[in-house]
Amino acid sequence: MSSIQATRMLTPGPTPIPDRVRLAMAAPLLHHRKDAFKTILAENQVMLKSLFCTESPVLPLACSGTGGMTAASFNLFEPGEKVLVATAGHFGNRWVDIVTQRGLDPVVLRKEPGTSFDPEEIRAMLDDDPAIRGVFMQISETSTGVLHPVQEVAAVTRERNVLLVADGISAVSISPVRMDEWGIDCLITGSQKGLMLPPGLAFVALSPRAWKRAAEVRPQCYYFDLTAERASCEKNQTHYTSPISLLVGLHEALTMLQEMGMDNVFKKQWALTQMARTGIAAMGMELFVKEGRYTWGLTSVRMPDDLPAGPVVAKAFKECGVILTAGQGNLKDKVLRLAHMGWIDWGDLAAGLHALAWSLPERPSGAYIEEALDAYHKALGE
Ligand SMILES: *Cc1c(COP(=O)(O)O)cnc(C)c1O
Repeated sequence: MSSIQATRMLTPGPTPIPDRVRLAMAAPLLHHRKDAFKTILAENQVMLKSLFCTESPVLPLACSGTGGMTAASFNLFEPGEKVLVATAGHFGNRWVDIVTQRGLDPVVLRKEPGTSFDPEEIRAMLDDDPAIRGVFMQISETSTGVLHPVQEVAAVTRERNVLLVADGISAVSISPVRMDEWGIDCLITGSQKGLMLPPGLAFVALSPRAWKRAAEVRPQCYYFDLTAERASCEKNQTHYTSPISLLVGLHEALTMLQEMGMDNVFKKQWALTQMARTGIAAMGMELFVKEGRYTWGLTSVRMPDDLPAGPVVAKAFKECGVILTAGQGNLKDKVLRLAHMGWIDWGDLAAGLHALAWSLPERPSGAYIEEALDAYHKALGE
């Protein structure tokens, strides 16, 4: 059935794909072992390193983001090793599951969803237990919209024999992440959030000391062998058959990011976040993350007890064509997420705010769109 309105994906993955990227991916397939494709992979490496702010190779893997998380756990630690997992939500809990399946011995630092970690508490835990060999955390916890203090935690881990593994899947290319300067040992992202691509690629980069560790570890995982991937990467190849079209699309997306300039992209993300927060508050809805450490790619709403997120999400899609998302796990009813990451601008977000307001049982009065747009322009410095 045809619709009279566009479908807008304001979701924390997948996100809309620019026409330039879609068209690049529609080109006839290149062969993945021939020179034309090797040139694309070589150029991707240069742009990926610049995106991650690292000198290390950034390995593309044919899998969703969770595959990158799995690769990190299997390549950097041996079964039985003690690690600290800091979790305050659904994706933090995923780290617990992954490292447990790898046979690691996790010490879990668990915080209330919607809050973030105190780096001093992590420092104290590492001081108390020198057997801890790694710290696993998110940079942005997508289930709640919290930005965790990765830079501060890296300042703690880098002065110890402890590897910091950071899930940057909803942070890289959304808010600044400087791998080498901060001292992150393993940085992971995926294709379908800030990178303006379909799902299907994960990216993993390791610091020099993480590569040393990887050389000692037997990954015991045939597909995710980062040492083998690195050797192929140095020849501008991937170890197994490349996800050719996605890597061609990546080349176009990275070129677009480069043309826009990452500082401008981050500024836009910041301004969209101010716009979303202002609009939601002006509607009389409650922000799930009150102040301080909120992520720049989505804004979460704390739903009133008598109004679960599900029916609001359903109505926004049915009547406005806007895809919003409910919470995850036990926050399913309590949180509604309005994402604004990747190829999204103020017009899309205005549509998202309208769809949210339209789908509440009582239409909010007042000029929430005007206020939101004022906040957007103010944040952009216009
Ligand atoms: C989306 C997301 C993931 C999972 O990625 P998949 O591609 O679904 O495997 C993991 N961590 C964070 C923080 C995410 O936002």
